[in-house]
Amino acid sequence: MRYNTLLFDVDDTLLDFQATEKQALTKLFATEGLTLSPDLEEQYKTMNHGLWAAFERGGKTRDEVVNQRFGIFFEALGVRVDSVELENRYRKFLEEGHDLLGNSYQIVADLSTKADLYVVTNGVSQTQYRRLTDARLLPFFKEIFVSEDTGYQKPMKEYFDYVFARIPNLDKSDTVIIGDSLSSDIKGGIVAGIDTIWLNSKSEQASNEIHPTYTINQLESIYRILEN
Ligand SMILES: [Mg+2]
Repeated sequence: MRYNTLLFDVDDTLLDFQATEKQALTKLFATEGLTLSPDLEEQYKTMNHGLWAAFERGGKTRDEVVNQRFGIFFEALGVRVDSVELENRYRKFLEEGHDLLGNSYQIVADLSTKADLYVVTNGVSQTQYRRLTDARLLPFFKEIFVSEDTGYQKPMKEYFDYVFARIPNLDKSDTVIIGDSLSSDIKGGIVAGIDTIWLNSKSEQASNEIHPTYTINQLESIYRILEN
């Protein structure tokens, strides 16, 4: 194999986060007696995206985003809710979502016999462990690195320093990160000095600034790179 240490992103690389999010929102809205229509889903996503954009600009903390979002959203619908309580409910529903993307299970199971696999994911530790366990992926990984536990997140160099310090005999030239996000996975890999594989399954436009070592459209194509 071309690489012997494989760092996998989780959401929208191995697990279908879009499906997980939709299921969780559907369940959450039902607890408020509402049906998640396409319109409401769109409104929620626009609002949520706006809050995370404020977070990235430094205008809001992560806790402010997650603890305010449902209050803001339901207030616009004329429904008064306890925003923090709804966020906790939503978090539980998110934990229940673990749809696999394509044949990621077979690929991970197979690769785990040929290389050392690690998870590198931004998110809440309890949520990610539960979803990986339920998807039966957990045993294939030597270790799981969730940003919440590391104190840093992709694409920060400190996050990768933390990860590399915990992988025995790590050789950067034999290590590659696989993920769907240019701004966190690929940028992070570049910052950390390792090769990168961009899973561009939605055929997004390439970036002028962030150049992956390889680009694939489906996870299976990873074999073309690894078996080279
Ligand atoms: Mg991802």
